[in-house]
Amino acid sequence: MATMLLLTFLISSLIMVTVGLAIDFMEILRLGIDGQLSVDPSDVETASLDFGLLTRGQPLAVLHPVSAQDIARVVKAAYGSNQGMTVSARGHGHSINGQAQTTNGVVIQMSGWKGGNKPPRPHVWAEERYVDVWGGELWIDVLKSTLEYGLAPKSWTDYLYLSVGGTLSNAGISGQAFNHGPQISNVYELDVVTGKGEVLTCSEDENTELFHAVLGGLGQFGIITRARISLEPAPNMVRWIRVLYSNFSAFTSDQEHLISLHAESSNQKFDYVEGFVIVAEGLINNWRSSLFSPQNPVKISTLFPTGGVLYCLEIAKNYHESTAQTIDQEVEFLLKKLNFISTSVFTTDLLYVDFLDRVHMAEMKLRSKGLWEVPHPWLNLFIPSSKIAEFDKGVFKGILGNKTSGPILIYPMNKNKWDHRSSVVTPDEGLFYLVALLRSALDSGEETQSLEYLNNQNRQILRYCDEAGIKVKRYLPHYTTQQEWMDHFGNKWDRFYEMKMEFDPRHILASGQRIFTPTFPSLSNMPS
Ligand code: FAD
Repeated sequence: MATMLLLTFLISSLIMVTVGLAIDFMEILRLGIDGQLSVDPSDVETASLDFGLLTRGQPLAVLHPVSAQDIARVVKAAYGSNQGMTVSARGHGHSINGQAQTTNGVVIQMSGWKGGNKPPRPHVWAEERYVDVWGGELWIDVLKSTLEYGLAPKSWTDYLYLSVGGTLSNAGISGQAFNHGPQISNVYELDVVTGKGEVLTCSEDENTELFHAVLGGLGQFGIITRARISLEPAPNMVRWIRVLYSNFSAFTSDQEHLISLHAESSNQKFDYVEGFVIVAEGLINNWRSSLFSPQNPVKISTLFPTGGVLYCLEIAKNYHESTAQTIDQEVEFLLKKLNFISTSVFTTDLLYVDFLDRVHMAEMKLRSKGLWEVPHPWLNLFIPSSKIAEFDKGVFKGILGNKTSGPILIYPMNKNKWDHRSSVVTPDEGLFYLVALLRSALDSGEETQSLEYLNNQNRQILRYCDEAGIKVKRYLPHYTTQQEWMDHFGNKWDRFYEMKMEFDPRHILASGQRIFTPTFPSLSNMPS
């Protein structure tokens, strides 16, 4: 086994010397990594791709680390290298535009592990109500570990097969964000390997600047190896309700009313508020949420306005079997204040864990039909609430023209639940919406499902917003020039740049985001 490993490294070392690129791999070997540094073609292939299937970036090698020290050793070596080597952390590779890829260095595969040694398992501090997790831990596994103690994180993403480090590098949002803020608002402490290879603990009280920079920092300042996440007592059941609207302003007024209840006691508000746009039926259009209700078998097609658009408010209330007797009353009280189409109530009661893991069920369905591993030209926008009606008119009822090729989510959030010191940028209004166009490109012969058509439509939507003066901010952003990034960050750019110079001065980390170019003397003409 050891001979095989040595041979692999000798070969990889030779390859690198041959192409005249990165540092000598034997040097890294000598550094004594406890995990595995791999040039296995299947590892390299996996790290070259992501969920978007839009870009490919082949790394020189893939590290499967088992500790922060493993990562620090590789980053230090890259930092000290004069020939230039980049290091990109990869969670579960669920980016769209190659954000976790690198073509001139090592991908640190944070999620999943190989071989005997493993990174640390989640450690639940039940009394203190927090959990310490490895940066590559998937949220589904965080949930399973904390449920053993009757506890759970407060803020989620819709899909749980994402890594902690990956979502904290963006924000991590779902229908709980109006109440608890995004996931980055629910973190107490981080361990981070900076671009100089230092391992630093940071929090509100220690290395504060680094702490805020890393949250929503697109992987630019350090690799998160441990996150301490806030927990609450876990419910065991959820009532999941969907109601329909044909009137957009009634829909958004109700959404805004519901999120305005965030400060009320838990029996006077929902725990989850989202929504989506329905312009056409079918699995590929609405895989995120089926409108089936065992109690209310309403046929959605009977509710569609001719040639129009329907809006679905999706809400949920958590409960415990012990409080089940009051749930009907609480829900009825909240629903009474809403103005949806009265015959359109879809209700399901399910286990909390099944509710949180609902998108995985949809994934299984799509996989079985070969519709999961296809290109995903997704576009996620934060839109100021004052402009959401204009967006509806121009995009949902205009540009999309009755074709979607995937779910379109729309829900509002309260800006005061977002810490302005984090790196993430949101619109300049107290309320803003997420609009997520989660579309799949299919090779079906149908023009409106092709990648080119969907990419063009995305560009058209952005152009429309620009011309209509709708000041959107992109979520999970992707740009190709530094000027675009400067515009994206606006008045946060100077700080972002300053933090980069302090914590990753050679621009080694997360070069797949294309914000900074690595600065090695002999690399002046090389792409990152
Ligand atoms: P990757 O794609 O592997 O990495 C993303 C970025 O983070 C890269 O730049 C990478 O270098 C960096 N990174 C990864 N790990 C670390 C680390 N440990 N330390 C520092 N930087 C790191 N997002 C939401 O907010 N809400 C949702 O509801 C939601 N649903 C989704 C559903 C699906 C089906 C998919 C595919 C994505 C969804 N996302 C959602 C987007 C998701 O948050 C991003 O894709 C995010 O990047 C997490 O994916 P990942 O863990 O695979 O990270």
